[in-house]
Amino acid sequence: MKYLEEFRNPELAAGLIADIRATVTRPWALMEVCGGQTHSIIRHAIDQLLPEEVELIHGPGCPVCVTPLETIDRALAIAARPGVVFCSFGDMLRVPGTDRDLFRVRGEGGDVRVVYSPLDALRIARENPDREVVFFGIGFETTAPPNAMAVHLARKQGLRNFSMLVSHVRVPPAIEAIMDSPDCRVQGFLAAGHVCSVMGTAEYPALAERHRVPIVVTGFEPLDILEGIRRTVRQLERGEHTVDNAYPRAVRPEGNPAARAMLEDVFEVADRPWRGIGMIPRSGWRLSPRYRDHDAEHRFDVGGITTREPAACRSGEVLQGLLKPHQCEAFGTVCTPRTPLGATMVSSEGACAAYYLYRRLGVPGTSVRAQEPQERRELQAPQEAGRVG
Ligand code: SF4
Repeated sequence: MKYLEEFRNPELAAGLIADIRATVTRPWALMEVCGGQTHSIIRHAIDQLLPEEVELIHGPGCPVCVTPLETIDRALAIAARPGVVFCSFGDMLRVPGTDRDLFRVRGEGGDVRVVYSPLDALRIARENPDREVVFFGIGFETTAPPNAMAVHLARKQGLRNFSMLVSHVRVPPAIEAIMDSPDCRVQGFLAAGHVCSVMGTAEYPALAERHRVPIVVTGFEPLDILEGIRRTVRQLERGEHTVDNAYPRAVRPEGNPAARAMLEDVFEVADRPWRGIGMIPRSGWRLSPRYRDHDAEHRFDVGGITTREPAACRSGEVLQGLLKPHQCEAFGTVCTPRTPLGATMVSSEGACAAYYLYRRLGVPGTSVRAQEPQERRELQAPQEAGRVG
């Protein structure tokens, strides 16, 4: 298939790996920011093909995983209300809240619907003027523009029964927070190519300079990732720390001006808590006051929310790159994609899910192997019924 097979060519991959091997002289720790990159790395065993000096640390770039528990619980409370149609991408349905998930709410009679686009939720609002239609708007800079467009259209079309529960997050402040952490081991970043295709690269040079880290904009196919690693290692070996675009077929320095204009119209930058990490200043978006009428957080008073994270779940450490998923005691035993304790095990971009689907290291009764295809299909099915990232 064009644009897939040609970026998975084994001979070209071997050439890039040989180049990395010839360049590296000492240990380096690189973080791939995006969960989509993590899945590609684990699925294609890229981390196992690299020279042992190059370590890949999995970053927090999974929008489902970092959505705060308080927001999940708020979504559950709104979805359970009579008269509400709650619309969400499929991979949010199994994300555990404090005591249930959206599947459970649906099982208990809530009208929870999986949609493939926020425009589907707009259509449902148009067709059901006597119902309150709420869309769960989460994700990084990639999903924010269509969500902004949906709110913009709702106001333009006078759909007063449409609102959005917003929990959007931004990548550059997260990189800043990771670098400021006293436990940080990251020496170079593979930046998320799809985020940069929207936002461009203007925010990165100051970050690279302040923290003296190379930041290489990287795509998602195996050759994209290997090229990103090759360029990052080359910079590190030379003592450089610049921003480099290794994904020029999708990313321009200015990003997508039309999408950015829509974001600026509908959202405003806000402080956001990240699940497992904590509050990161200016790391998110909320609806601007102009669109307050469509803000589900203001429309639905769900009272005080008391959250409770499962004690056994160490997804916060996983999201900060301090722990590999298989090092969590619950991995693959009490925590599986069917019985997830944390969002990182259920999201289609979660690191724990990637290790479970493609490499069940250390799980009793399993060896180092990929899942059987049938089992993998079964586990992936609910996630692929509409995705956030
Ligand atoms: S394996 Fe499960 S319990 Fe452990 S960190 Fe991942 S999601 Fe949490």
